[in-house]
Amino acid sequence: MNLPSAVTLCEVGLRDGLQNERTILTVDQKFEIFEGIRDAGFTVIEVGSFTHPKAIPQMADTDELYRRIGDLEGIELRALVPNLRGVTRAIDCGCKKVKLNVSASRMHNLKNLNRTPEETVAGFKDCVEAAENAGIEISGSISMPFASPWEGLIPVSDVDRIIEAYLTVGITEISLSDASGMAYPSQVYDMCEHVKKAYPEASWWLHFHNTRGMALANILAAMESGMTRFDSSLGGIGGCPYVPGAAGNISSEDLVHFLTLSGIETGIDVQKVKTTAESLRIMLGRESLDSYVQKAGTNEDLMEAHKDDLA
Ligand code: ZN
Repeated sequence: MNLPSAVTLCEVGLRDGLQNERTILTVDQKFEIFEGIRDAGFTVIEVGSFTHPKAIPQMADTDELYRRIGDLEGIELRALVPNLRGVTRAIDCGCKKVKLNVSASRMHNLKNLNRTPEETVAGFKDCVEAAENAGIEISGSISMPFASPWEGLIPVSDVDRIIEAYLTVGITEISLSDASGMAYPSQVYDMCEHVKKAYPEASWWLHFHNTRGMALANILAAMESGMTRFDSSLGGIGGCPYVPGAAGNISSEDLVHFLTLSGIETGIDVQKVKTTAESLRIMLGRESLDSYVQKAGTNEDLMEAHKDDLA
């Protein structure tokens, strides 16, 4: 197989995961999970979002969490922002990188914001200016670039127009985010091949929810196309507020296990991810997590459990 020798993972459990969990963690609890993620070896971590506290109460204390974490060498922390107010909050608490979001589902965007996705992105110009003036990085994400519950398959030309709108306002780091969990491997491969060729000036993240069990296969397809940056979440927690039945991101421990077995470097220790995911499970009061490795252990765990049979 034609796979990369190393990939970078971003742990998004503290944002994408927690925003869809009923239990609201304290800043202390979030910080404990953050330390577990960092100690496991993640070098990119999505810490939270600067959204309205009434809309997403789980993220209300993101500012406080950032202040608690402070400046860390060698680790990229990022947060999701919906608008200029979010960018301002991010700057005020020392956040160095923010990510904007728009939906590629025209119906979804029109219904919620009464604007096309391209118009929404063009409106991000003030966010980009504010970020640039403050010297912080700004990136963008596109929700549902593969398929949506309303339109079904999203035409690639629609995704192109959003990418071009991002590039026009000066955003070149773009995440393709399968929030509805409807993407499938051949489609992912084709999309990755297309965007890499059509927009060589851009860099890409891929974000897959495991709603229909295809996230790992989609990541494999994306790696076949040369993509090397993926999001994952501890214990596969999370969902999508707009999509009933949606599951969380691919679990970090399943993804790290899979990559390690495949000889692809991540710099992340799967056992430490497991331990942190277990702490999170207890904090959330959940009986189990959406993670195979959490339920069945790693291949090595299994052999360890059976080693006495050989004596
Ligand atoms: Zn997501």
